[in-house]
Amino acid sequence: MKIHDISMTISERMTMYKNRAEKSPRFAVERRGRVQESRLDLHLHSGTHIDAPLHMLPEGGSIDSYPLERFIAPSRVLAFPDARQIGAAELKGKEIRKGEFVLLKTRNSESEAFDFDFVYLDSSGAEYLKEIGVAGVGIDSLGIERDQEGHPTHEILLSARIPILEGVRLKDVEEGTYLLVALPLKIAGAEASPVRAVLIDEISG
Ligand SMILES: [Zn+2]
Repeated sequence: MKIHDISMTISERMTMYKNRAEKSPRFAVERRGRVQESRLDLHLHSGTHIDAPLHMLPEGGSIDSYPLERFIAPSRVLAFPDARQIGAAELKGKEIRKGEFVLLKTRNSESEAFDFDFVYLDSSGAEYLKEIGVAGVGIDSLGIERDQEGHPTHEILLSARIPILEGVRLKDVEEGTYLLVALPLKIAGAEASPVRAVLIDEISG
């Protein structure tokens, strides 16, 4: 069984959305003899994380209200190496099926630094994926949309209870079919959670 780790490493120096250093993780390490205990001050949208509807919709569900089937799901990695943004036109022809957790691989995957011009999913793409009924949508940037007035991509997906997985690292993953495992922490009432996301190669035969 081949496991691809598609998670960002959590550290005080990790890349944050728009390089907002004030949101960076903070570790406090306590040592008593050989015993170490740490506290971590972690913004819930750090690194590889899932957004729940509550992130954008005050009456939306929180991260702990999702069935776990959403986060252990058949997944398709779709590559768009030349796209500047991904809309319905780009997604058509990829034969996306209902129930798949779609992961968008773009040129964002080539760099660890924050790119203010990152490739994103536009509202036409979000509508298209909602119509199909995908299990979730992930992208290789810390945001799934950029500079869209009113955050329509988030609104369209989250109002349909389609979770958004941001900050996946797909540089070393080929376009194809996998099993995605990306379990959020069980945090009561939270609008998001960091996840350890992995893709497992389909076991054939
Ligand atoms: Zn987020």
